[in-house]
Amino acid sequence: MSFSSFGLSSSLLKGIQALGYSSPYPVQQQAIPAILKGRDVLGIAQTGSGKTAAFALPILEKLLKQPVATNRSVKVLVLVPTRELAMQVEETFYNLSIHLPHKIKTMAVYGGVSINPQMMKLSGTAVLVATPGRLLDLVDHNAVKLSEVEVLVLDEADKMLNLGFKEEMDRVFSLLPARRQNLLFSATLGGDIQTIVATQLHNPVTIEVEAEASVPELIDQVAYQVSAEKKGPLLRYLIRRENMEQVLVFASSIRTADNIVGKLKKNGIEAAALHGDKSQGARTEVLKQFKAGKIRVLVATDLASRGIDIKFLPYVINYELPRSPKDYVHRIGRTGRAEASGKAISLITPEDAHHFKIIQKKMGKQVTIVQTDDLDLHGA
Ligand code: AMP
Repeated sequence: MSFSSFGLSSSLLKGIQALGYSSPYPVQQQAIPAILKGRDVLGIAQTGSGKTAAFALPILEKLLKQPVATNRSVKVLVLVPTRELAMQVEETFYNLSIHLPHKIKTMAVYGGVSINPQMMKLSGTAVLVATPGRLLDLVDHNAVKLSEVEVLVLDEADKMLNLGFKEEMDRVFSLLPARRQNLLFSATLGGDIQTIVATQLHNPVTIEVEAEASVPELIDQVAYQVSAEKKGPLLRYLIRRENMEQVLVFASSIRTADNIVGKLKKNGIEAAALHGDKSQGARTEVLKQFKAGKIRVLVATDLASRGIDIKFLPYVINYELPRSPKDYVHRIGRTGRAEASGKAISLITPEDAHHFKIIQKKMGKQVTIVQTDDLDLHGA
C-alpha cells in the first residue's frame, strides 16, 4: 500500500516524501480513509505508531479545500496533555504542509510560558494544538473562539486524564459546536475514556494497532567490529567457538545469503538458505529440516524470515544490518523468547558504525562492541 492510494493531493504527497515516509504505517492505513470520509475515529495506539500523521494528513487534505482562515475561530483543535507533545504535533503539521499551495497556519499553545505572545500570534490559525489549561485561559482572554471547530482531536487522551485534566476537557467540550468530527487517540481504554467515547464520539470507527516491537530483556546483544573480508571467517569462528547448534543468520540480499551458505558448506557446516527465490515448497522443507535440527545454520533475508515460527532460537546473527531499526528489533526478537535467554550478534564493518549507532538509539539500548583485530581467524 502507498500513500498515493488515499487520493491525497500531490502537494501533501510531496510533504510525505520530504519526511522520508515510504509507506503508511498500520494506524495510517486504517485511519486516513475513515477520517477523509468524515467518520469519528477511536484509535487505540501509542506514540511511535505514526498516529500523528494518521490524523494530520486527512485534516490537512480537508483544510486545503477551504478558504484560508483569517480570524480567531480555529477549524481544528488538537488537545494534548503536554507541552512536548504540543510542539511535536505542531511540527508534524508544519512539516507535512511545507509544499501546500497555500499556507495552513498551525500553532501550538501550552502553559508555563507567557500568554501574551501566544495571544498575539493566534489570528489566522486553522489548526490549534493546545494543552487544556492554556487553551481555556486563551478562551477567557477572547484570544480564540471554539464555536467553529470542525474537527476535534484528543491525542493521548488517557494521559490527559491521568494528569487531571478531566474538568478542563469537559469545559472545552461544552464550548464546541455539537456537529463536528471527533478523533480520539489513546494507548489505553480506561473508565473515563469510555465515558468520553460514549458522550463525545458518534459511531466511531475503532482502530487498534499493536505497540511497536520492543526488545525483550532476555536477549544478550553483542556486536563484533570486523572488516568486510573477514566477515565469513568470523561467522564460522563464532559458530564453532560458541558451539552454536542452531543459528539464524540474516543477510540483506538473496545473493549474499546464497554466498554465505556456499562458504559454510565448503567449510563443513550444514547450512541452507531461505529467501524469496526459493519456491514455497522448498522454503517449507528447509524450515522443517531446520526445526528438526537437521540444518545447523539457516541463512535468511528479512522478507523470508517473517514466516519463521520457531519457539526458541538460541542465536541470531546479523551478518549484515537491516536498513531499519524496526527490522533489527524484529530480527533479534526471534531469540530470547518464552522465558529462555538468547544471544543476538551483529557483525559491524566500519561503514556500518554510524547506522548501528542509530539503531541503538532508536532501540534505547547500548550494545557491547567487541574488537576482532586480535582474534585468530585462520582455519575458521
Ligand atoms: P508518532 O507515533 O506520530 O509520534 O510517530 C512516530 C514516528 O514515526 C515519528 O518520528 C514519525 O515521523 C514517524 N513516522 C510516522 N509515519 C511514518 C511512516 N509512514 N513511515 C516512516 N516513518 C513514519
